Amino acid sequence: MSALGRVIGGLLLAIVTLGVARADPYVGALFDAHLHYNDEAFATYPLPDVLARMQRAGVRAILANSRPNDGTKSLAAARAQTAAAGVTIVPFVRLYRNRADYTGWFADETIYSMVLDELARGTAAGPYRGLGEFHLYDSANANGPVAAKLMRLAQNRGLAVLAHVDDPAIDLLLAHAPKARLIWAHTGISGAPVERVRELMRRHPTLLGELSYRPGLTDADGHLSAPWKALFAEFPTRFLLGSDTWVNARWSEYESLMQAARIWLGDLPPATAQRIAWRNAADLFELAEPK
Ligand SMILES: [Zn+2]
Repeated sequence: MSALGRVIGGLLLAIVTLGVARADPYVGALFDAHLHYNDEAFATYPLPDVLARMQRAGVRAILANSRPNDGTKSLAAARAQTAAAGVTIVPFVRLYRNRADYTGWFADETIYSMVLDELARGTAAGPYRGLGEFHLYDSANANGPVAAKLMRLAQNRGLAVLAHVDDPAIDLLLAHAPKARLIWAHTGISGAPVERVRELMRRHPTLLGELSYRPGLTDADGHLSAPWKALFAEFPTRFLLGSDTWVNARWSEYESLMQAARIWLGDLPPATAQRIAWRNAADLFELAEPK
């Protein structure tokens, strides 16, 4: 064989080996730790339909929140249907009654009262387990009076918080309540560098990262990128999966979103994949293994 032939042969072998080395997708249970069932979804995606989507996707528990809170309550109240679908509902109090609340909640005392009322009322699936998702488009608003009060409330009552914020707000929010369990929605949708995520994870032991919409998580082929694989190896207990069904289009693609996650989860050691897919969120909310 010529030298060139050997090089080509070697390349072919490398390509074949790479192809074979790709692991199978993760097939275990999923916990969707970022799910909205907002009022505009009800007509197109009624409750039996969304539960069927979860069931087909292998989702066995959801962190449920909605604008307003009616969608979460309807999921929580459907005890027989959720049990039949094998889906456990973990309800969160959303801070928004309507879209206008997105931009001023952090200084709006009526939001704080609404949250207290909701917590007192609870849901048919049990007490609320957290607050959010909330958004801060300007990180400085993490120091708004109601944002600070809600963080302290979460810490005092053992509630988790789901926050869609940029990385500077993580330090600010946790300064109000250093022991609060803060789920960073999208682990920074603006794509904070992996090194910055690592630094925050090291600094804040109660910080968790949810992974929907996370830039750079996967390569163009849908497989896990090397920097994120290394981050998960360092913090296998700190990341969660989510769909973020914030608009109806996300419901239409719900099963393919979850299948896409199964592909990159398959690139991880099985125990780490199972942690991110299910166990980290299940541990956070003390859920038993799904049957
Ligand atoms: Zn969301």
